[in-house]
Amino acid sequence: MNILVTGASRGIGKAICEILGDNIYAAARSEDLLSSYENYCVCDLSTFEGIEKLGNYIVENQIDVLINNAGGYIYSPIEEMNFAQIETITRLDLIAPLYLIAKAVPYMKEKKNGRIINIGSISGVMGEAYASAYSSAKSGLIGATKALALELAPYGITVNTINPGWVDTEMGNTSVIEGGFSKEEMIECIPQKRFVSSQEIAGMVKYLISEPARGVTGQAINLCAGLTCGC
Ligand code: NAD
Repeated sequence: MNILVTGASRGIGKAICEILGDNIYAAARSEDLLSSYENYCVCDLSTFEGIEKLGNYIVENQIDVLINNAGGYIYSPIEEMNFAQIETITRLDLIAPLYLIAKAVPYMKEKKNGRIINIGSISGVMGEAYASAYSSAKSGLIGATKALALELAPYGITVNTINPGWVDTEMGNTSVIEGGFSKEEMIECIPQKRFVSSQEIAGMVKYLISEPARGVTGQAINLCAGLTCGC
């Protein structure tokens, strides 16, 4: 089973690669951080060229499991965002995943088997002030997940999105600071009084690609230590 993971160099993506072990096809921007993998593709998924390069790599390597994990975040009042910032976030968080799915699906259809997992965010489920571009893109992933689950069900392909709450990674910690909060203040708002770990997200990925999860499709799974339930 060939498994492609985007954003494999650190954080959640790295934890997913570690838990899944063999047959990993890793993608990220930095060759230095990817060189420990046997198979990898260096690409910037905020550019058209990078997305197309990874699309070709997917076609060449007959990918059975696609994990769209790479993502980016901008904290900004809407009126201060320029066109380029909105476009960059939308390309990285929504257009790239959709295009990569388009490139992975023909082989999965031929095999009548495949698993697609997107890493969304609870910001795509609940509102997050000053993160409108990020929230829009992550909501878009949920819409795509439901549509594609219907479209691809006859071919034995499942499509799901995992929506993490706050995760203890570089992105999680930076976005807390950008929002003007301390980590302790943020933890106070989380029902379980903790950040989720990358390993917990990776564990859900492992379940979703397992045989017992073949009936789970079209779902947006909030893995958020209770945050989407309210305070
Ligand atoms: P991270 O910043 O630690 O890692 C992000 C990964 O994406 C890195 O491997 C990075 O190289 C890759 N990436 C970023 N920009 C890229 C680009 N232009 N081209 C190619 N790769 C790029 O963040 P993380 O917390 O591990 O985030 C992984 C996913 O989880 C993201 O989609 C993020 O939106 C989502 N998420 C994270 C949190 C959190 O609190 N950390 C919460 C909700 C959702």
